[in-house]
Amino acid sequence: MKQVPQRRTSGAAGWRDAAFLVAAHELHQLPPDQGREVVFAGRSNAGKSSALNKIVGKHGLARTSKTPGRTQQLVVFSIDATRRLVDLPGYGYAQVPIALREHWGEVLSEYFATRQSLAGAVVIMDVRHPLREYDRALLELAAANGRPCHVLLTKADKLGSGALATTLRAVKRDLAQIGPELTVQAFSAVTGDGLDPARRVIARWLDGVGAARDPDAVRDP
Ligand code: GDP
Repeated sequence: MKQVPQRRTSGAAGWRDAAFLVAAHELHQLPPDQGREVVFAGRSNAGKSSALNKIVGKHGLARTSKTPGRTQQLVVFSIDATRRLVDLPGYGYAQVPIALREHWGEVLSEYFATRQSLAGAVVIMDVRHPLREYDRALLELAAANGRPCHVLLTKADKLGSGALATTLRAVKRDLAQIGPELTVQAFSAVTGDGLDPARRVIARWLDGVGAARDPDAVRDP
């Protein structure tokens, strides 16, 4: 049996070892519901793959610039025997056939409702287009099931500091209407801005220590 590392870091140590484990089209194809996993969600093209790769520190872990909406699978990466990252398919593309969208709605609802090891959700949004319809639906689904969510407003390098602060304030206000365990921060996969606070939130969820909320992560930049 694989040796579980004794040292539980609160940072991203060991995440570079993350490796593809399985792509699940149905929940029963997921690994056993033990340990902890953090799920990454976002609209297609929001910058989810880039954020995931940056956070893990492994270029090319999640593929970027995929054909939109093609792979409707939960892609699971294992860090070690007890910690996993789960990449949801990018949502929001009209080209995805309705039957597939309906299937996904059901799979996701069940995933958020029943998955014991799901410690939290990272929701990636393009800072220039935050809180679109599907983003809200995903956040509401997570909140309804008591799952903490952390929003990364990515591509923050595309906005000036004034516009960024305004957007952060507006998104924080909207998130407070959706649920109590929703936090937000600016992020850029290009400059690395926001990388450390994002990693801290995810590490806490994966390591099962402390509250889901990270005060540092929600501070204005
Ligand atoms: P995904 O479909 O959500 O996985 O999005 P990708 O990670 O493939 O990114 C979509 C596009 O946005 C690509 O052209 C990326 O290079 C670009 N991108 C992603 N993150 C950033 C960022 O933080 N800043 C900038 N400027 N571009 C980004």
